[in-house]
Amino acid sequence: MDWSALPNPTAHPCDDPERVAHALRLLTVSTTANETGDAASLLADSGFVCAHAAMVFPAAYTATPILLDLVEHGHRPRIKDAALGLLSNALDYFPTAGHNRVDTPYGIHVPLCCAIARHFRGRRAALLAHGIHGKQLLAEADLHWRLTVEEAEVQGDGSLTAIATLEGTPFRTPVEAELHTPPFEQPVRTVRVDALTADDSDTACIELRQTPSRPAPGSCLYPAECGRREH
Ligand SMILES: [Zn+2]
Repeated sequence: MDWSALPNPTAHPCDDPERVAHALRLLTVSTTANETGDAASLLADSGFVCAHAAMVFPAAYTATPILLDLVEHGHRPRIKDAALGLLSNALDYFPTAGHNRVDTPYGIHVPLCCAIARHFRGRRAALLAHGIHGKQLLAEADLHWRLTVEEAEVQGDGSLTAIATLEGTPFRTPVEAELHTPPFEQPVRTVRVDALTADDSDTACIELRQTPSRPAPGSCLYPAECGRREH
């Protein structure tokens, strides 16, 4: 991983991706309580998050799987706890203005919080094994829902009905959402989800308004408010 290639958006004194890599290594090999605490403080005050400004940086998206590995396989309970605390901060804090999106293997310009939350969902078993705090973190991650459209149909009144796969918790409607359309090069559009019906299999039926055209299969929706999260 070339940490120096990660965006260093603001020249914020905290934002140093190389220091994140260094601190992650220190946390991984730490043995005493002091060493673990020092490594965790370094991450809480580096390009991962900046605790005193409650900021999260794009490098947190890259660092999240490494911290999830530590939650699962860390060789001391306090390393697991420290990793979990940092992951919780990464989801809670807001990004710096203009750097609140990341490119991922499943789409570009994804809201940073939603991309981090998706990493958490991918490690559900490891987080559930970490007791109440792991469970809480998953519940928070599930608020960053994602819908993937499977098929959509225009109704007589001009609204759209779509069958979609829901990740995360079913949400209240109406709600504004960002529509990301493959090949994910177009600017993100804001649409309104008027209704959501979800079943236990994660298949959802949604009604959409303010949609300029029928969303192609594979289009994704994220909460519009996540795309507005920034300092
Ligand atoms: Zn989000």
